[in-house]
Amino acid sequence: MDKISVIVPCFNEEQAIPIFYREITKISAGMNGVEFEYVFVNDGSKDKTEQVIRGLAERDKTVKYISFSRNFGKESAMYAGMENASGDYVVIMDVDLQDPPALIPEMYEAVKSGGYDCAATRRVDRKGEARIRSLFARAFYKLINHISQTEIVDGARDFRLMSRRMVDSILSMCEYNRFSKGIFSWVGFETKWIGYENINRSAGETKWSFWKLFKYSIDGIVGFSTAPLALSSLMGIILFFISIVGIIFIIVRQLLYGGSAYGWPSMICVILLVGGLQLLSIGILGQYLSKTYLETKRRPIYIIKETNIEK
Ligand code: UDP
Ligand code: MG
Repeated sequence: MDKISVIVPCFNEEQAIPIFYREITKISAGMNGVEFEYVFVNDGSKDKTEQVIRGLAERDKTVKYISFSRNFGKESAMYAGMENASGDYVVIMDVDLQDPPALIPEMYEAVKSGGYDCAATRRVDRKGEARIRSLFARAFYKLINHISQTEIVDGARDFRLMSRRMVDSILSMCEYNRFSKGIFSWVGFETKWIGYENINRSAGETKWSFWKLFKYSIDGIVGFSTAPLALSSLMGIILFFISIVGIIFIIVRQLLYGGSAYGWPSMICVILLVGGLQLLSIGILGQYLSKTYLETKRRPIYIIKETNIEK
């Protein structure tokens, strides 16, 4: 009998968990010949999430949970879930029902008998999202796909069902700065894409502020492209050629007309421009350096406070 592990990262989701559990058990009850396991990862919630999950685990033996010692972020929660999942197939989904559980049978079919290793979902629209946010999201996907060899699919969600071998290959990527949208694609394997329209949260509110998303997008770029590093060399070369032209121009003008003391405002502009470009380049270097720094410390991706999983 096949076993599907459902990994559910939860951060302050006391309201959403009971609704989620009701819906997912409806789906699992309808799938014959498949065993289910739920791995709830409590990502350092400040509300009653931990009690709610523990309550479920007492009533249902297939409910496993991992409680982090603090908030480590969804990326860490997904990693912890995968490390502790025992199923032949692994599903990752949000607890807020923005990822419809009704798609699981179709995803399972695709991976079990459709020749795919992964069935992933993507939003086909961005309804219910602020205009400015969609605009930035689109720009981000355009940019990163332009400068990175790894394909990052626009609108792809973390909601996906994967085969054991794909999960194991993801686990082998134990980097500290995790950007799953890139990692899922980097490991390869055939992915079947299933599109659906955006669904609003069942309860609670989103944990993503604009600023958090912005930082996450920088993580993605730094994690999956080194193009920004080449940018400073390119700017240097361009400025070098411009300055050669400038030097020739000034020498010729001096010889023909004299009066080289003019040009204060233009000089200030040039100094500001070049200074700005230099700071930008140092900033880019700094981004890569800081990621390297954190990576070399080899800190654990998460720390468990409590769990009911025996290894
Ligand atoms: N989440 C988490 N740790 C965090 C932030 C979010 O485990 O630091 C979980 C959250 O509980 C939810 C999922 O990640 O199950 C997606 O979060 P959210 O719904 O806030 O994101 P959105 O759907 O708005 O992108
Ligand atoms: Mg959500």
